[in-house]
Order: sequence, then C-alpha cells, then structure tokens
Amino acid sequence: MHVAIVGAGYSGLAAATTLLSFGHSVVIFESSPDVGGVWSSTNHYPGLKAQNTGNTYSFSSLPMPKEYPLHPDCQQIQAYLELYVKRNKLDQDGRLRLNTRVIRAEKRDGGWVLEVRSNDHQNQLLSFDYLICAAGVFNQPNIPSFQGIDTFTSSGGIVVHTSNVHKLTDLKDKNVVVIGFGKSACDVAVATTPVSKSVTLVARDVIWKLPTYLGGALHYSYLLLTRFGEALFPYIRPWRSQHFLNYGLGRYLRSALLALVTWVITIQLRLVTFGLLPNKPFETIARASVSLATPGFVDVVENGSLKVERGVTVESLGEGKVKLSDGREMPVDVIICGTGWNHDIPSFLPQECRKKILNQDGDWILYRYILPTDLPGLAFIGYNSSVFCPLTAEISSLWLASHLERSLGLIRQLPSKEQQRLEAGEEIAWLRKRTDGHHANGTDIVPFSLSNIDEMLNDLGFGIVWFDWLREWLLPVNPGAYSHILPNLLSRRDALKGGHLKDE
Ligand SMILES: Cc1cc2nc3c(=O)[nH]c(=O)nc-3n(C[C@H](O)[C@H](O)[C@H](O)COP(=O)(O)OP(=O)(O)OC[C@H]3O[C@@H](n4cnc5c(N)ncnc54)[C@H](O)[C@@H]3O)c2cc1C
Repeated sequence: MHVAIVGAGYSGLAAATTLLSFGHSVVIFESSPDVGGVWSSTNHYPGLKAQNTGNTYSFSSLPMPKEYPLHPDCQQIQAYLELYVKRNKLDQDGRLRLNTRVIRAEKRDGGWVLEVRSNDHQNQLLSFDYLICAAGVFNQPNIPSFQGIDTFTSSGGIVVHTSNVHKLTDLKDKNVVVIGFGKSACDVAVATTPVSKSVTLVARDVIWKLPTYLGGALHYSYLLLTRFGEALFPYIRPWRSQHFLNYGLGRYLRSALLALVTWVITIQLRLVTFGLLPNKPFETIARASVSLATPGFVDVVENGSLKVERGVTVESLGEGKVKLSDGREMPVDVIICGTGWNHDIPSFLPQECRKKILNQDGDWILYRYILPTDLPGLAFIGYNSSVFCPLTAEISSLWLASHLERSLGLIRQLPSKEQQRLEAGEEIAWLRKRTDGHHANGTDIVPFSLSNIDEMLNDLGFGIVWFDWLREWLLPVNPGAYSHILPNLLSRRDALKGGHLKDE
C-alpha cells in the first residue's frame, strides 16, 4: 500500500518505521523544517525538556544516547529523533518531505488525494491508498479571547502561547503575566524570572504537582511509570490489582500511600506557606496529564521574583495593563498563555469527517484510539497521548499495521462497527467523568498507558516476557522490553502468508 503520514513527531516516525517494515511504501509530510513535532526547533521554549527520563521516552529499538542527562532537553530529543530517522532510512527515497504542509485531503477512488504545499508555495496533488494522521494533539494552541485585546496589542502589548515563546531576550525588562498552572506555564514563568522586570502567574486553580524527586530521594517515575503506580488508579476495565487496590482490602494500603505522598509533597513544595495547596485530593493529579513541579519554582516564589495569583482569572486587557477577576489591575507588557490546546480534527480533513470522528461534545471516538469507526482508509497515531508517548505510538503503529493485514488473521477479529463505536463512546464518557472534563477530548489516556498497551497487545496475541512484566511492577517502563514484538509479528505474518499460499 502507498501510505501518506501527516506529521514527523514521535507518532509519525513510529508509524512510518512500522509500515515500512511491513513492506508498505510511505511518505511523511511535515510542515516544519525538521522532524520532532513538539520537539522541533520551531517549538522550543525556554526551559523545555522531557518530563520523562530519556530511558522511558525512547523508542523500543533505539535507546537514548548514554551521554544524555536523566531528563534530555528539547535539542537533545530533536537530535535523537534525527538519529531515529537515519537509522530507519526514513529520509531516503523521498519518504520524508519537510517544509511541506498537507492542506487538503479528499477521499477519491477508494484512496486519498492530498493537496500539499511546500515552502516554495508550490501546490501538488498526490494520490495514496491510505492516510495516517499523526498531526499531534498538542499543536493547536488555545488562546482565550480576552476582552480589550485590541487596545492591548495596538498599544504594543503582546499575547502569545507558551509554545511560541522561543527567546528569553524578547522578555527582557518586560512585565510578564503567565496564565495557567500547568507544566508549560510554570516552566516558562520560572525561566523568565531572571530577565523580566516582573513575572506573575495567574492561576484560576492550582493543581497537584509531582517533584521530580519525591522527598528529594525517590524519582517520580517509580511512582507513576510503573504498573504499581498505574494500579493506584481504577481503569474502566480494571486489572485484578487495580480492583484490589481501589475496591478491595488493598484500598487501605492505597489510602495510606497516597496520604504519605500528599504529606511529603505538601512539605517539599511548601504548599501551605505559599498558599498553593490544591483543594482537590491528590489522586486528581493523574487527569489527562501529570504535571511535574518545575525545578526552581519554590526558590523563585520564595524570593519574590515570581508572584502567584491564585483563584483569579484575567477579566480584561487595556493599554499596558491587565484587570483580574477580583478587580485588581497590574501593568503588563506580555501575556503568555499556558492555557492548553484545542483538540479539533486537523483542518486538512474534509468537514464531513468531523461527524464521524467527534461526538456532539467534541470528543474523539476512535476504536483503540486509532480507528474512526466509519471512515475506511484513515487512521490516527498518537491520539492516545500517555506518560510514555513513544511506546504507546509504537504499539499503536504495530496494531494498525496488523489491522491492515487482518485478512491473514494477524489481529483478533474486531467487533462490528456499531460495537466499536459503542465501546469507544463508553470509554470517552468514562474518561470525561473521571477527569471532570479534563480529558483532552479523549486524546489522552494518562494514567492508563500500560492498560492501553496491554489491550492493544492482547488484540495481537502478544505480550512481553514474564520477567519484564514483573519488572514493570516496581521499575519504570522499559521500551526495550517491547523491541521483540515487531520482528515476531513479521515472522508470524510471513508464516501466515506461507500458509495462505499453500492453501491456495
Ligand atoms: C511542551 C510539551 C512537553 C511534553 N513532554 C512530554 C514528556 O516529557 N513525556 C511524554 O510522554 N510526553 C510529553 N509530551 C507529549 C508529546 O505530545 C508527545 O510525547 C509526543 O511528542 C507527541 O508526538 P506526536 O508525533 O504525536 O505529535 P507532535 O509532536 O505534535 O507532532 C505532530 C507533527 O505533525 C505536524 N503537522 C500537523 N499538521 C500538519 C499538516 N497539515 N501538514 C504537515 N505536518 C503537519 C506538526 O508540524 C508536528 O510536527 C509533551 C508535550 C508538550 C506540548
């Protein structure tokens, strides 16, 4: 099959490598001048580095370089992805088209015709058999519509999303207001303090944050990137251990553990002193994302270089000033919005697809977070954003490649379209409820990353070896433990093909 892949972030690159291995021809379209997506040089913001350790943020077939620090920075991750491209020959034979945006995709003759535009403004029409959308769920910045924004900007004020803050020098001697309390908002606010005149973080609500080292000793990945950590949160189809820890006798252990963690974090981040103690229980930390505390945050709040205004919102903007919802005004030159992302379908897809992909609440209805239930020829990779996206994107790609060869029996028989829609719909409704609507419209499965992987592998009749499975209970996930699955799947596919040929 001739396959178009939109996006050259982790997901698009994983999809391309997998489909190439299965013998398909692929073309990856990427609007940026380099690969990396979120980690592309066009998206770097001051202080941007992986929340994950490099070991848990790599593909199964390629560990991060040994010389990288525990948490690689954005340049290092981008360089790692360049290396992955070279290793897998994704940049050969015209497979990678950088600086090329897909502007329209149209279903035609059972396949797709894509209209693509490259940097030289040349439009081209290209035909493909299959379309994989790996356009990312964190690239439609959400900027609120502020009252008075025109007055603010016409008097020289700047409103920008965190993902578009690239140089600290642009903020030199400015009064900066950062809106939000997520990871990006806090990262940018802290990074800005040495250069700006003043920095104020305006947070409608404060959320729980995990210090990278809990109590200064235990790396957070032991708490969240393990099966034990995941078992502390009840999944829609709970493992036995999730059942035990959430509803059985184990709930006493779970409560004691969470109380201990809550206490340690409260003291470590001095939440009471700074008035930043969230008013929701600690388990709400894992709702579509888990935010790590920005290193240095406590110091800059303590020394007064970062002010946090909690429980207020920006009501309006004026000439060089911002008015908060409690009526106070403050001088501001730059507003930085750490206000998250929109999760609409990519604009290149035909509008009639919207009804088939999104439900009336704008939530994504994809079977296994990959397949629209009624749009043959189209799949999504990376729409199960997790606490280790490279691995979930890779396993999704294996699932998809096997699905494309379902006639061989490489994947278990999927339920009917109606049943797929029903199951996906129930899952989204459950996610919406458990996160109080903070579920990124169903494009994020945190904290159920291993549950999602288990279910996809179960469809393929594969697993990891028992030793690695046991290891995952207490040690952070190791993508390398999944590296045998692709070669094994290919061998099985060849054996099945051989069998089919004999039958014929
Ligand atoms: C600031 C930030 C920090 C993060 N840190 C972590 C972390 O530490 N750990 C973790 O697990 N996850 C993290 N994530 C989540 C992150 O999204 C994933 O880990 C992963 O990078 C997503 O890869 P992706 O390929 O799915 O999407 P993206 O990286 O967003 O890539 C999508 C690509 O598609 C391209 N594209 C979109 N539309 C078109 C078009 N029409 N034509 C051509 N190209 C197009 C975009 O230019 C982009 O390059 C972070 C996210 C953000 C925003």
